[in-house]
Amino acid sequence: MRILQVASEAFPLVKTGGLADVTAGLSQALVRSGDEVRLLMPAYPGVAEAAEATPGVELGDPLGTGPCRLLVGRLPETDVEVWLLDAPQLFARPGGPYLDATGHDHADNALRFGLLGRVGALLGPLGPALGWTPDVVHAHDWQAALAPVHSALWGGRRPGTVLTIHNLRFQGRFDPAIMPSVGLPPSAYSVDGVECYGSASFLKGGIYYADRVSTVSPTYAREIQEQTGGEGLHGLLRTRRDRLHGLVNGIDDTLWNPATDRALARCYDADHLELRADNKAALQRRMGLAVDPRAPLVGWVSRLTEQKGVDLLLGALERLLARGAQVAVVGSGEGALEQALAQAARANPGRFGFFRGYDEALSRTVFGGADLFAVPSRFEPCGLTQLYALRYGAIPVVRHTGGLLDTVPDVDRGGIGFAFDAVDARALADAFDRALDLYARPPRWRALQRRAMAREHGWASVADGYRELYARAIADASSMKMWEPVASDG
Ligand code: ADP
Repeated sequence: MRILQVASEAFPLVKTGGLADVTAGLSQALVRSGDEVRLLMPAYPGVAEAAEATPGVELGDPLGTGPCRLLVGRLPETDVEVWLLDAPQLFARPGGPYLDATGHDHADNALRFGLLGRVGALLGPLGPALGWTPDVVHAHDWQAALAPVHSALWGGRRPGTVLTIHNLRFQGRFDPAIMPSVGLPPSAYSVDGVECYGSASFLKGGIYYADRVSTVSPTYAREIQEQTGGEGLHGLLRTRRDRLHGLVNGIDDTLWNPATDRALARCYDADHLELRADNKAALQRRMGLAVDPRAPLVGWVSRLTEQKGVDLLLGALERLLARGAQVAVVGSGEGALEQALAQAARANPGRFGFFRGYDEALSRTVFGGADLFAVPSRFEPCGLTQLYALRYGAIPVVRHTGGLLDTVPDVDRGGIGFAFDAVDARALADAFDRALDLYARPPRWRALQRRAMAREHGWASVADGYRELYARAIADASSMKMWEPVASDG
């Protein structure tokens, strides 16, 4: 199958979150099983060099923002061919993929990602000229969501389209005045189109027009059809529920392997868990914690936003520390949350460590050195950190929502982690208590770690699921019939 992935990030070229790991891991798994994959993403600064890209075809000026072209390279350390969208006037600038150097959205994000979606769709019709025509276009998140929109609006023979929602909270909503500048006809600004509560929403458009929509866990696929989890789009998602799929993310078990991870002070496997002690000591030193092999160490790695439940951790802290535990938090994000964590570190020297920033190597030390790993998210489409923690033998303590429910069954039900339901610091503290009770019984704790580490989360079987989804999308596209809403079940 010829699959065009369209995304705004891919590891290791650009990463701000789990999306980058998923686009890279899925693409590599598909290539390994014989599919032809091209991954289209913007040529942000430095990316062309890292991908060792060379000039490909000229694309003209599809949106009147200036000429652009494709550069052809390779995702480092993989067999995945990347097609970089080289549009210097939109992408060659300081800052991150979405935010400028001062932390604000790039003012022209609608155009930047409007162009990404437009080119994602154009590569279908341009296929004969390029010598490669996709059977399916797989767009990720709002930044790529206009690809299925343009494809459907152009009609005719076209590739199947899939839109994956990695986080419904981010929708790419803009002033409707941008419609012509991103190449959309006025008629698409409709409730049956990209219109969404008075704005033009890239994600809503993608959900409406893609042949198939997927998200990153079955539970999240259900939750987003409810008002509480639907971020305003539950009605549409419900009417499309026969085309909505939930596929749990995989992890790259070569990149994430404690037996070979060079970021660790000491590599280990499930048969040599005693070697983790060196990583724990390294983590304690790095985070300014007392170096104490017996103190249960709770790790944390995430963006610091309301979603991730930092406030719940802080609310549970007193009880946690009273039991002799230590906490190591690695993350960056909202100023108020960063300040609260810095304050907790000042108030609890040697027992609470906070590293503010993004540090991949340090995150690996957390997975390889912490005893427990906390993910008390308010909502979590899939979550990758709990999967890395499991693989490294750090036992997850999670709120049962979205992908956390699908991947971390509770110990009380024969599972591999500790779970709680209510968005409540006491519920989290109770879950920590249960975990610490078991931690105090080393043989049983080690048995739990071994069970956790034995869980399979590789990409190969997940890729099979996507391939099935692609086949359905291709069949939908070739039937040339627009989808019809599923009757409301009240
Ligand atoms: P999300 O995509 O919502 O941010 P995920 O759990 O799906 O959450 O993925 C987050 C990814 O980003 C993981 O690979 C995690 O290890 C990484 N990550 C998040 N914050 C940091 C950080 N401060 N330092 C290093 N890695 C981080």
